[in-house]
Amino acid sequence: MPQFDQTLNLMGASGPVDVRFHRLPVRTEAGGNRYRYAYGEFGPDLIDAVYRQLPFVARVGPPWKRRDACGVCAVEMGGTSSRATMTLPMRLGRIPEFEVVFTVPTLVCPSCGDHQVSGDRTLGFHITEAMTQAFQAGNLKP
Ligand SMILES: [Zn+2]
Repeated sequence: MPQFDQTLNLMGASGPVDVRFHRLPVRTEAGGNRYRYAYGEFGPDLIDAVYRQLPFVARVGPPWKRRDACGVCAVEMGGTSSRATMTLPMRLGRIPEFEVVFTVPTLVCPSCGDHQVSGDRTLGFHITEAMTQAFQAGNLKP
C-alpha cells in the first residue's frame, strides 16, 4: 500500500530565508484539503537531510577565535555576502524523490567563488521556521 496519495508544491518564508517544496509526497486526510506527512519519521528525516545537504561554511580556529572558512578550499571567508538559490534533491524513506529549493543569504569564497550558508544560529532558526511556515500554509501536519 502506498504511503502517500498526493504531491504538493509548497512555499514558505522566515526572515531572510525562502523555501519551496516541489512534488512533496503527502497523505490526504479524510475530507480533502488537509494533509499528513507521508510517513512517521518524515519530519526528523527532512531536517537531517536539509542540514546535511546545505553547504554551510566551515568554522576554524580555536574556540575563542572562531573564523568562517570556505568548506571547499579552506580559505578564510571575507565579508562578501550575497544570496543564492540552492536546490536539494530529497530521497527520504521509501517515498518518491522531491525537491527542496532554498534561497538564503550566503558568504562568497574570495578564492574559489563558492557560495556557502553562514552557520549563524539565527539563520538555522529561519531555515527550520521557513519549512514550518510552508507546511502550515499547505495544511500539512505530522
Ligand atoms: Zn573556496
